[in-house]
Amino acid sequence: MSDFAVEGVWAAPGRVNVIGEHTDYNNGFVLPIAIPHTTRASVGRRTDGLLRLASSHAGAEPLELAVADLAPGTLSGWTAYPAGVVWALRAAGYDVSGGADIRIDSDVPVGAGLSSSAALSCAVALAFNDLHDLGCSRVELARIAQQVENDFLGLPTGMLDQMASLGCTAGHAWFLDFRDLTGSHIPFDCEGVGLRLLVIDTRAAHALVDGGYAARRASCEEAALLLGVPSLREITDPDAALAALPAGPLRMRVRHVLTENVRVLRTVAALRAGDVRAIGPELTASHASMRDDYTISCPELDTAVDTASAAGALGARLIGGGFGGSAIALVEEDDSGAVAEAVEKTFAARGFTTPRFFEAIPSAGARRLS
Ligand code: ADP
Ligand code: MG
Repeated sequence: MSDFAVEGVWAAPGRVNVIGEHTDYNNGFVLPIAIPHTTRASVGRRTDGLLRLASSHAGAEPLELAVADLAPGTLSGWTAYPAGVVWALRAAGYDVSGGADIRIDSDVPVGAGLSSSAALSCAVALAFNDLHDLGCSRVELARIAQQVENDFLGLPTGMLDQMASLGCTAGHAWFLDFRDLTGSHIPFDCEGVGLRLLVIDTRAAHALVDGGYAARRASCEEAALLLGVPSLREITDPDAALAALPAGPLRMRVRHVLTENVRVLRTVAALRAGDVRAIGPELTASHASMRDDYTISCPELDTAVDTASAAGALGARLIGGGFGGSAIALVEEDDSGAVAEAVEKTFAARGFTTPRFFEAIPSAGARRLS
């Protein structure tokens, strides 16, 4: 590793989605922030067609392989993310066949639902864009990074994480419309009004590969087909659409997506009006919808949300794909310690792994550091 060539260092952050969950692949609304935690990629170009990969993350073994050998399904584990970026760039027609040395260092919690995977692929994608003068826009880079998960790894994830990591700005939440990928940056200052956005990492492992995420996505596609719309976003009469679907899981899934889009709009309206506290009930309603209609919560996430609310949080919800990972809680600054303490105590009483806490401060998107 000591002989790794380094021409520059690029950083990409993890993300917290304030609200708008499982709406990205339904052409809906999302509202992410980038967090201060970043993944750094130190990258240098090679000319011999080799890709050399190393990460300081515990258990991440280094790997050396030929760029020409990259193909979907050939790699699993952490190296699939940086190698997948090189594969996706080549698949998009960019000449990056010379290879590279890529060294990864990160303080984004891994597997906690804060999108360490997108931080990793986005840092590498931005590095290649700069080093090879590819001229890709941030949206194009997000697509490349998404192809890493969808096509190289076979995970049917949406593009929220990659867009957030590449496009968010400090001090703002990004209101994004996935129908056309237009958006606006909305000032989001919790500290300025005496609030904290607390992240509760439940430490319950979330596994995208388990199929729950793919099943939800498939249900949405099935419902859109039944309703004769290109995507759930194109539904103009929500009540009629719900009534037209068979009672049961399909109707519940669609109800989550339709109501979640409305909650994002309400949250954005509250932030635009400068009323951060007013978003609390939207967060809690989002959680209930994911728990009851989308059925992607788990005992740890429900415990985190319920305990935080009982201890005074203005609102709380699971974030990310679900089935584990992190929750957020909007809390008064003065209650922040008590909320964390209550969650920790309840986790201990229920025999769950000790949770971790972070503060989510809206931070800058991906950038070159040196
Ligand atoms: P999340 O994105 O929520 O953190 P994922 O399961 O989508 O969870 O991605 C986690 C995976 O990303 C890890 O298992 C590992 O393969 C890869 N990864 C993320 N950050 C790093 C890193 N710093 N070093 C090596 N691998 C990483
Ligand atoms: Mg991920």
